Amino acid sequence: MTQLSRRTILKAGMAGFAASAFPGIAFAKAKKEDKKAAKSAAAYDAIVLGAGAAGLIAAITAVDSGAKRVAILEQMDRPNGNAIYALGNICGWGSKRQIRQGIKDTAEDFYKAMMVTSNWRADPALTRTYTNDIPSGLDWLEENIGIEFGKVKKAPYPREWRINPILGKGITGGSQMVQMLVAAAKKRGVVFLWQHRADKLITDDHERVIGVEAVAPDGRKKFFTKGGVTIATGGFSANPEMVDKYIGGWASRLAIRGSLSTTGANISLALPLNAKFVNMDQFHAGPIIAETHVNPNEVLNSGYGIIVDLRGKRFVDEVNTYVIKAKACAQNTIENKAWAIVDADCKVIGNMTHRFELLNTKYYKADSIEALAKDINIDPAVLKKDVDDYNNALKNGTLKQMNPPCSYRQPHPIAKAPFFAIPYEGGMTATFGGPLINTKAEVQTLEGHSIPGLYAAGNAAGGLFFRDYIGGAQLGGATVFGRIAGREMAARAKAAK
Ligand SMILES: Cc1cc2nc3c(=O)[nH]c(=O)nc-3n(C[C@H](O)[C@H](O)[C@H](O)COP(=O)(O)OP(=O)(O)OC[C@H]3O[C@@H](n4cnc5c(N)ncnc54)[C@H](O)[C@@H]3O)c2cc1C
Repeated sequence: MTQLSRRTILKAGMAGFAASAFPGIAFAKAKKEDKKAAKSAAAYDAIVLGAGAAGLIAAITAVDSGAKRVAILEQMDRPNGNAIYALGNICGWGSKRQIRQGIKDTAEDFYKAMMVTSNWRADPALTRTYTNDIPSGLDWLEENIGIEFGKVKKAPYPREWRINPILGKGITGGSQMVQMLVAAAKKRGVVFLWQHRADKLITDDHERVIGVEAVAPDGRKKFFTKGGVTIATGGFSANPEMVDKYIGGWASRLAIRGSLSTTGANISLALPLNAKFVNMDQFHAGPIIAETHVNPNEVLNSGYGIIVDLRGKRFVDEVNTYVIKAKACAQNTIENKAWAIVDADCKVIGNMTHRFELLNTKYYKADSIEALAKDINIDPAVLKKDVDDYNNALKNGTLKQMNPPCSYRQPHPIAKAPFFAIPYEGGMTATFGGPLINTKAEVQTLEGHSIPGLYAAGNAAGGLFFRDYIGGAQLGGATVFGRIAGREMAARAKAAK
């Protein structure tokens, strides 16, 4: 006889107690007709929630792996997630294109770079899976979907040739990617159910996911599946209540850099199933002008100038990355608004002001700091003192003793007219937290096992990112884990027949 562990006996005892103590509540049986529907010919082999990068890739891969009937439920009347806002850089190594371009790289170096970026807090197994699968993922996007990439570029950190930029051809690279994926999915017969907002997963009495409920224009509906459901609804950046709860009140003041449709269905759908959520306070931020969506990144990354709030007070060490500067703006200023003050020597100012003008976005330019201060409604004496303090500290070698310190490695004086004031706000790019997945994209429970039939991919899934990400690794993650989820659902559907 197998020896029962104390834990097993306790579990069995508690389950019996709970079932009898709360009949019809925690242990409610799945409805008979739901169970029948999940086995009927009408059930889909695979259901995907969300027509973003990860969802479209999961649906396409499910079909290519043998699934016959595959549906995507999308809450909007078109793809409307962060993917369409994305520049379209995908971070990877070892793809055929990279090898053709003579780029030498190794799995070990790539893995290490991803782990270092997360301060070694990313899930090692998921990071290893990303590392192993991204070469074939990039090849698949190019060869099977027809996505065209530009020449491989160097990543900002570490300076390796890992950025594969999708050619946007007049739109963002991310939008181009989504358009190509929608076309590929339609070609394969994937059923698109637009304006279907998924709001509840349906389980059988073994807590296996057998379907989903959605709100559609003609009422509430149920959809059933043999292979499983993939949550690919993005993160919760556009849900202020969740941002407040999981990250903090200050973060809910951040402007939204991307989609307003990423409202946390990854959390609300998986929470009732005892899913384990990880990295819930982690997210990516960047500067933005909320009104016109101009990204003033270039100036903030230029290594020139100082940053002040609307009263003229410095609040952040200017050497920091744009991610930290964006977060600090929401954390340390009352309005989440600030100015970068630079002079005519700033190398990128021409480019930047050109982009501002193209997008009808206001910036200010004046021949003296006092005149600039008047234009931006700051007391001229205050801004003049900021600039003088900075220039004097630079001369005396005491920049690091300022409050806050300024740690530029190669500081430049703010001396040459004209002077510029470039506005920015802190913005939320995407949240990193969500239900933890394993290397098969299966959602994990608090007890440490997989929820049968439930997968997550892209920004909906938790575990891959912490603190920051190497530029291009989010679309890369959507590609790698979208493909895995698609294959797994197809295999499950096949096994169920
Ligand atoms: C400005 C900006 C630039 C970026 N640039 C890059 C880049 O160059 N490289 C990179 O790697 N990453 C980039 N990112 C991040 C990248 O866009 C995301 O990581 C990626 O889009 C995630 O894809 P996804 O499929 O997980 O989710 P999304 O693309 O956000 O798609 C989610 C979809 O799910 C739908 N949905 C939500 N809830 C429901 C529901 N209940 N029922 C049905 N449907 C639902 C949404 O409407 C949406 O269509 C950028 C992000 C921003 C904002």
